Amino acid sequence: MAEVRREDGLREADSATLSNFAQFRLHRLHLELRVEFEQRRLAGAAELTCSRRARSAADDAAIECVLDTRNIKVHAVLVNGERTSSWTLDAEHGHEVFGTPLRIALPESVYSSDEEFQIRIEYETGENASALQWIAPSGTHGGEYPFLFTQCQAIHARSLAPCFDTPAAKCPYSARIVSPEWSTALCSALMTSSTTAPDELDASKRVKISTFDQPIACSSYLIAIACGQLSKIDLSPRACVWSEPGVVADAASEFAAAERFLSTAEEITALPYAWTSYAILCLPPSFPYGGMENPCLTFVTPTLLAGDGSLADVVAHEIAHSWTGNLVTNSTWNHFWLNEGWTMWLQRKIVCAVKSKPLLFDLDARNGIAQLRDDIALFGEDNVLTALCPPLSGVDPDDAFSRVPYEKGFQFLLHIERELGSELFLQLFRSYLATFQNKTITSERFRKFVVDFVAEKRGPQNALAVDWDTWLYAPGMRAMGKPYVELVSALDGTLADAALKFAESWRSEGELPSDGGDDRWNSMSTVERVLVLERLLECPFPPAMAFCERYDLLESRNCELRFRALMLCLKNGALATHPTKVRASVEQMLSTQGRMKYTRPLYREYSKHASDDAKALFAKLNHFYHPICAKMVAKDLARTS
Ligand SMILES: [Zn+2]
Repeated sequence: MAEVRREDGLREADSATLSNFAQFRLHRLHLELRVEFEQRRLAGAAELTCSRRARSAADDAAIECVLDTRNIKVHAVLVNGERTSSWTLDAEHGHEVFGTPLRIALPESVYSSDEEFQIRIEYETGENASALQWIAPSGTHGGEYPFLFTQCQAIHARSLAPCFDTPAAKCPYSARIVSPEWSTALCSALMTSSTTAPDELDASKRVKISTFDQPIACSSYLIAIACGQLSKIDLSPRACVWSEPGVVADAASEFAAAERFLSTAEEITALPYAWTSYAILCLPPSFPYGGMENPCLTFVTPTLLAGDGSLADVVAHEIAHSWTGNLVTNSTWNHFWLNEGWTMWLQRKIVCAVKSKPLLFDLDARNGIAQLRDDIALFGEDNVLTALCPPLSGVDPDDAFSRVPYEKGFQFLLHIERELGSELFLQLFRSYLATFQNKTITSERFRKFVVDFVAEKRGPQNALAVDWDTWLYAPGMRAMGKPYVELVSALDGTLADAALKFAESWRSEGELPSDGGDDRWNSMSTVERVLVLERLLECPFPPAMAFCERYDLLESRNCELRFRALMLCLKNGALATHPTKVRASVEQMLSTQGRMKYTRPLYREYSKHASDDAKALFAKLNHFYHPICAKMVAKDLARTS
């Protein structure tokens, strides 16, 4: 465990790193990597440029540099260009989740000086590097070439390269990637060159050499690499879409609103987009998340390709992270809600402004509440992991992942907005970005910032009526009490009420509602339809199968609808009444995408009704999924049996 040192002198423990990052300033990270598809590994070097922080009694231990690694094979270590043998992979202090610390003794000339120094580690990634997914040609759309992508959030960067794997250690980074001649390599950085040349290791072959530079300091979890057969379509002078050649046209039309999302975000934040260019990479279907906000290069799942742009909110979310998360960053994973709560708030503002539908904000917030309710029920109302600032000592951040930091974080910010009024809250948001951009932040620092801001704007006698301790540290939602109930009931119900009425008439009549019927369903947006399905999921609904068949939901291209329809059928016993159709639909969805939002609940529900079938299916598909998804489904299935 190390401590995060900040300018204000407060210290915050980061239990998820075994490094001693707090004793150094990290100035730059440079990666030189070969993408070796046949061996399924990255091989090359990582070079860190650091300097010691000003010495104090507590810093005596800085005679060594300790880096995070997991499953990394180290071949050599050089300090300031000199090869050293004074290093060890310290398995004794290793941890199954947090990895194996790499201890490098520093020569006296380095540790007794405050000058910058370089540490170069020559290494290759291990067989089960959790950040990497190697996809065989059969798992791609084109079917001809393999594909590689990385996912470093939360603590997987240490399996990609030795590093200070904590959000608190931000630095600019650069990369030189050597890949097969047929491929395109991309990084979460600006591409500075791309050429083909004879392979240094085998002159009979040619390779692609691409270089990248990320001049803005970013945390290790934002490092990203992808490599495959890729094509690009420009959306605007600064925005584009990348994907496999057979997918890129669909992706470009689905995400055509990206430039409008960007310029709208600039208006709301009053801060220009800092990262120069913006690309969306639509990945093969095993990508485990909806999107990942890698700087300059958002990764998205192809499950967003609904054909009508209706799921592009995820792109607005990842674009919002360009400010909240990537510029202003949680200093440890205990404060993840500051990344995600703010991003949900900004995402909803962007989408409402772009669609010119202010009521969408409240409607989408209601959907968020439904997701929050489900996740809190899953973890348990008293589970400490449902606090906004959960205690994470010894906990794998992947185990703590839920909608809590997103939706409870959003609700908390909405609560503050309601107390302050929208105008003053927008000022607070802009001031927050301007103050903390390029820095990292904790919840207590945020609290002090808000309290000071309100005192300055409204005078100390008009302090904010917010119960900070309960919101930040109490688990579940019940403890939030009256303010939360009032928050929910104050959400505008114009759009939601029509959708809920539709759901209620289906429930009470058990068939098509007599007033309006199909026309009402057909005129609803995806968000409204999701709300209908969420309401029907709340309690038993025997005509689930008839409902889903009437609207072709089990075959829908819209994964948000298809997923909820399958959950509705499973929960209401349709596996017993329509075994062939339901089993085929469940297996189809689980074998064609690996997004955890759908995959984990579907396996959990499937295994409640057909435990052996669920396990057999997972055994067959295990290698199709990303390592993070496979790990979490395995845990879920072990728990349900
Ligand atoms: Zn996010």
